Amino acid sequence: MTEKVLKGRGACHGIAIGTAYTVRETDSVSAAPPQRMSGDASAEAVRLEAAKERAAGELDALYQKTLSDAGEEAAEIFSIHGMLLEDEDICLALKDQLASGYTAEYAVFVALEDVAQSFFAMDDPYLSARGADVLDIRGRLLRCLGFGTQESAELPRDAIVIARDLSPSQTASLDTKRVKGIVTAAGSVSSHTAILARSMGIPAVIGVGDELLRCVRDGDTVVVDGRVGEVLPSPSQDELSEARKRLADYLESEEQLTLLKGLETVTPDGQKIELCANVGSVRDLDSVIASDAEGIGLFRSEQLYLERMSAPNEEEQLRVYRELLLRMGQKRVIIRTLDVGADKQVGYLGCEKEENPALGLRAIRLCLDRPVLFRTQLSALFRASVYGRLGIMFPMITSVCEVERILALCDEVKSDLAARDVPFSADVEIGIMIETPAAAVISDRLAPLVDFFSIGTNDLTQYTLAIDRQNPSLDGYLDTHHEAVLRLIELTVKNAHAHGTRVGICGELAADTGLTEFFLRAGVDELSVAPSEVLRVRGKVRNG
Ligand code: PEP
Ligand code: MG
Repeated sequence: MTEKVLKGRGACHGIAIGTAYTVRETDSVSAAPPQRMSGDASAEAVRLEAAKERAAGELDALYQKTLSDAGEEAAEIFSIHGMLLEDEDICLALKDQLASGYTAEYAVFVALEDVAQSFFAMDDPYLSARGADVLDIRGRLLRCLGFGTQESAELPRDAIVIARDLSPSQTASLDTKRVKGIVTAAGSVSSHTAILARSMGIPAVIGVGDELLRCVRDGDTVVVDGRVGEVLPSPSQDELSEARKRLADYLESEEQLTLLKGLETVTPDGQKIELCANVGSVRDLDSVIASDAEGIGLFRSEQLYLERMSAPNEEEQLRVYRELLLRMGQKRVIIRTLDVGADKQVGYLGCEKEENPALGLRAIRLCLDRPVLFRTQLSALFRASVYGRLGIMFPMITSVCEVERILALCDEVKSDLAARDVPFSADVEIGIMIETPAAAVISDRLAPLVDFFSIGTNDLTQYTLAIDRQNPSLDGYLDTHHEAVLRLIELTVKNAHAHGTRVGICGELAADTGLTEFFLRAGVDELSVAPSEVLRVRGKVRNG
C-alpha cells in the first residue's frame, strides 16, 4: 500500500477505476439564503406552493427511477420525502414563517431547520435519521424556488463521485451508467447513502475523512476498492496497471462464481456444510433466491419493529413470516425473535436510557420483560409455521433459566393456539444464539434444551474482547481471528454435537473465507452469510 492510499470503510463491494467528479458543498442542503422580508406574504405563499408541486414531481420521478435502478427498498426513501412535503407540522411551520413576512426561500430555510433539529434530538435512531431527510427536502424546495445550483448532469463517463457527504436524493439521482464509484469523507455504513450504493451495486468507500477533499481534484484518476475500503488518488502508471489487473481479476472471479449455482456446498473429500443467507426484510428475498442459498439462517425480525411508531400486530407479522416461508418452499427459514436495544433503539417501547446499552435491557431480556410483546411475536411465528420449514431462534442468551422461561412461554402460546383450534406445525425447530461468552461456556448445559445453536460472532467478539462494535476508533484492537473467540466456537460445536444439537454461524465471520477451513475442521453444520457472499463461500468450501 503506498502512502497516498486513503482508508475508509467499504460500503459496497467491487473495484472501480475512473475520473474524479466532486459534488460541491454549495450543491448540498446546507447553503443558506439571505434573511429577507418580502412585503407580500400571499405572493410568497403562491411561490412556495408552486415549488412544492415541482418538488413533488421531482420526487415522483426519482422514486420511479430508483425503483427500476435499485428496487423498492431503495426507492422508498423518496415516498417518505413526498410524505414529509405534505406533513402537517412542516406545512404549519412554513405558514408561520411566511406569516412573519419572510421570503419563501428564507421561510423554508428557517422552518425546516427547526423541524430537522427536533428530529435530530430524538433518541430513536430511526426518527433521528429523519432529520437528514428534512434537510434534503429543504435543499430540493430551495432549488425549486430558484436558490442554489441545479444538480449537475456533467458527469464524466467513468465518474468516481467524490463528496464530503451525499444526501439520499443526490445518490439516487446519480446516473448509474456513468457513475463507477462513490467516495465520501463522512458518512456511516448504515446511512441511506451506503444502503443506496449497495442496492445500486456501485463500489463505495465512505468515512475517508476530510483529507479526501484536499487530495482529490476533479479530473484526477481514482481507484476505489470497496472490498477493503481503500481509495488511491492519482495512481502512477505502475499503480494503474496493477489496479487494472486487480479489476480484471475481480470481474473474472465474479463471473466464475455464477458457475457454482445449483452445486452442492461440499468439500473435495465429501464434507457437506449448509450454506444459508442472512436477511432483514422480505424485500431481500429476490437476492436470496438469486444467490442460490440453501435456506435462511437468520431473519432479523427487528427490522419489522424499527421503522414505525408502534409495534407490528400479530396479523401484520403473520403476513411477513408467511411470505418468507412460502417463498422459500422446502428450505429452512430461521427467524430470530426481536433483538432490539443497544444500537437498535425503539422509541415506542419506552425503554429507560442506559449507560451501557450493549450490556443492558436488550434482545431476549427485553422480550422476557414484556410478555405481551413477546407472546404476540411467538403466536405469529407458530401460526406461520404451517406454511414451511420454520426455526425460531432467540438472541443474547446467557443462562439456562432464560431458555427454560422461553420454552415455557412457547408451550403456553401453543396451548393457547390449540385451545382456539388455530393450526401450527409440530416440527418447529427451537434454537438459541450463542453470542455471549457465558452461553458458549455453558453450551453443554444449553445444548440438551434446544434443536440448534447459531453462533453470533459479531456480538460474541464484542463481548469476549470487550470491544464496542459501534466504536470505529477501536478498529485497531479488533482481532477478528482472536484465539479466545475461535476457542469458544470450538467449545460450542463440541458441546452441541455431544447432545446431537446442530450448530450454525450467522455473524459476519461466517463469510470470512480465511476461516472456512477452521469452521469445517471444527465441524460447524451451517454458515449463514449475506446473499452477495453465498457463492464466494461455496467456492471456498468446494475448492479449498
Ligand atoms: C451477531 O451478533 O453475530 C448477530 C448475527 O446478530 P446481530 O449482528 O444482529 O447482533
Ligand atoms: Mg447479535
